[in-house]
Amino acid sequence: MFMQHDHSGICPALSTIRKQADIFRQEQIMTKQYHFSLKTPFRPGNHPDGSISSAAFWFIFSKEKILVQIAEEDKVRVCSFSPEDLGLPVIFTRYLGRYGVIDCFVAELDDIPAVPPAMQFRGLRSLFGVIDDDLFSLAGRAIQIIHWHREHRFCGKCATPMIDRRSELARKCPNCDFISYPRLSPAVIMSVVREDRILLARAPRFPAGMYSTLAGFVEPGETLEEAVRREVSEEVAVSIDNIQYVASQPWPFPHSIMIGFSATYAGGEIRIDEKEIEDAGWFSVDELPQLPAKISIAHLLIENFIKKKSKKS
Ligand SMILES: [Zn+2]
Repeated sequence: MFMQHDHSGICPALSTIRKQADIFRQEQIMTKQYHFSLKTPFRPGNHPDGSISSAAFWFIFSKEKILVQIAEEDKVRVCSFSPEDLGLPVIFTRYLGRYGVIDCFVAELDDIPAVPPAMQFRGLRSLFGVIDDDLFSLAGRAIQIIHWHREHRFCGKCATPMIDRRSELARKCPNCDFISYPRLSPAVIMSVVREDRILLARAPRFPAGMYSTLAGFVEPGETLEEAVRREVSEEVAVSIDNIQYVASQPWPFPHSIMIGFSATYAGGEIRIDEKEIEDAGWFSVDELPQLPAKISIAHLLIENFIKKKSKKS
């Protein structure tokens, strides 16, 4: 029998095998877990394609706080009702994407007279470890979209009110065509290890007794590795080597992505930049000060140091 060929010129059997191989590869990619990545796939979107899922997650914010449902035994849940269902006045709503099979939406409320029964407004940070980690990350995504939308109401070039684009997460000026995308400020954060000790420092804003790894924003024109080297040099006057990427973490307070590195000490003695930090030192595993919360990539970098040193001893 004559074998039909598809448009790509590949016979159907081979095409099927290739498709299966693609699916297999994608599944392998999906099952590999990275730090701070979602465990369930999320597909960002601008509007639901086709049917809306029967369940929904609504990330509803008012004055920087998120509206959550309080279930039995004081369990906290992300809201499954729309502001319309709850009779709440909105300034802005937008589709966020599909999490697994559940559609997600973001909304910002206008002033509301009263909180609906069995609901509360909570600070986002306070929900870490209280709601599922994936939903915490999606709430972080949602609040960044609200910030961007609120702070880009007018064109930065000609001051005309901006209009949402339907095709992408962007706002466009109807007068001069300037397009604004959500703002993201990359920052590098790094562990620096000198034999069996790690460099930790504290900023005046930290809780009493807490020390963390150094971090700073990336400057225009700089590679991430250059930013790592510069930050350590500027803040403690120490030179470093062996700069290695470790992991990244979206940080929605207010709109960063933290890019984490490890590095080793190469020379110099600590001399702190007093404008940025108030103390810094080298700490062994046995004499660590109070550390940043588990929510943070700083904690992961320090934990990696502890694990490596514990293995050696
Ligand atoms: Zn304009």
